Amino acid sequence: MGTYAVTGSASGMGQQAAQKLRAAGHTVIGVDLAGAEVVADLSTPAGRTAAAAEVLAAAGGRLDGAVLAAGVGPIPGPGKARIIFEVNYFGVTELLEAWRPALARGAAGGTSTKVVVISSNSTTTIPLVPRRAVRALLGGDAERAARAVRLFGANAPSIAYGASKIAVSRWVRRRAVTGPWAGEGIRLNALAPGAILTPLLEKQLATPKEAKNIRAFPVPVGGFGAPDQLADWMVFMLSDAADFLCGSVIFVDGGSDAYFRADDWPTRPTLAGTPRYLWRFARAAVKNRDSRR
Ligand code: NAD
Repeated sequence: MGTYAVTGSASGMGQQAAQKLRAAGHTVIGVDLAGAEVVADLSTPAGRTAAAAEVLAAAGGRLDGAVLAAGVGPIPGPGKARIIFEVNYFGVTELLEAWRPALARGAAGGTSTKVVVISSNSTTTIPLVPRRAVRALLGGDAERAARAVRLFGANAPSIAYGASKIAVSRWVRRRAVTGPWAGEGIRLNALAPGAILTPLLEKQLATPKEAKNIRAFPVPVGGFGAPDQLADWMVFMLSDAADFLCGSVIFVDGGSDAYFRADDWPTRPTLAGTPRYLWRFARAAVKNRDSRR
């Protein structure tokens, strides 16, 4: 049986994932604002440092996996973008940087360790998220990211939420394939849920204007997702079945991403960054075209 760190373990999807892991006989070290083994506020650098260290101490410096589910929605109000960035982006990336050696230790026996980061289908369904905000987060600058979304006024929290989830997904994909992660036996992936009926969504549904917008959002299969079903996906992504899963963002969103973006992905790569041997496709095509002239 393994030892797993789960952030956001006191509510919603994180709570369901923690329950399922415990029911399967694993040890779970939960992290949350209250009601968890490690009580910490991930919106501050000090809270994140303390949470990372306390988890490592409780796990004896070795982890079999982690679920990063702590997060805030597009909380309304001026100045809230900063909190969204602190929790949803730095609350994932700083903890994972600190836990990476413990995850590598967990994989030292030969079975890969697994990490699931909870992203969102907001990554591909919220328009106009400024690239600048995403770049600033990936560069570690929350203040700059907050400035980049300020011009959106009352919509800034939604834009900030989208930016936080795009940035954290990119962070996952960039790291997942590198030596310190894939090379050390750590499988790093993200899950991108649509609207899931958790306390986070219930809070949004309690505001009539937000409820109207949420209910008007196209979900081809209809309704909302169930947190325990999403937790099943997380448990699956932590299992041996996911040994070959690396740097993927899995959308479980009732079809909204496909509805908006059917032709955007998969998309062909540009030649730059493509293995050189594939350039022969381009060379052959040019030769064939020239020979037909
Ligand atoms: P939830 O509110 O039920 O659970 C989130 C948990 O994170 C809570 O227990 C909360 O206390 C904790 N948390 C928030 N701020 C924190 C902080 N500063 N420090 C420590 N813990 C903190 O919400 P949920 O819907 O289960 O959300 C889980 C994840 O899924 C989040 O990252 C969210 O952005 C994402 N998500 C949710 C939905 C949805 O529709 N519910 C959709 C897409 C993505």
